[in-house]
Amino acid sequence: MSSWIQVFAPIVVICTIFALLVLFGIWVTYLGLREWDRRKRACPNCGRKGSGDVIESDVISTRSYVDTRQVGKAKLGRSTTWGAIRVTETQYEDLYQCSICGHRWTRESAEVERVPVSDTQYREKP
Ligand SMILES: [Zn+2]
Repeated sequence: MSSWIQVFAPIVVICTIFALLVLFGIWVTYLGLREWDRRKRACPNCGRKGSGDVIESDVISTRSYVDTRQVGKAKLGRSTTWGAIRVTETQYEDLYQCSICGHRWTRESAEVERVPVSDTQYREKP
């Protein structure tokens, strides 16, 4: 019975330390993202971090095109395999309002979406 504990106790300790390290990593990432978000929403008028809220979001432009993506590595004597992807770029104009002083400002943001095109399956590029 005691030998069973002697074998498993170090494993439990190592697993606990590992789990704590993972949790610490998640916590640091969360704090970093929150600080980044607070700086992004800082008011240009009163300088308060994280006071701006998006009250309106408008689409300025959308661009959609088909691009190719490398799906296989080039090997000696073989050409690279390429796959088709549809790229959709959307540009937004976000209207922010400061919750402290009521100042309003706009900021542009962009979103890029890449979706593989299934009907034009992998083809070889010369
Ligand atoms: Zn403000």
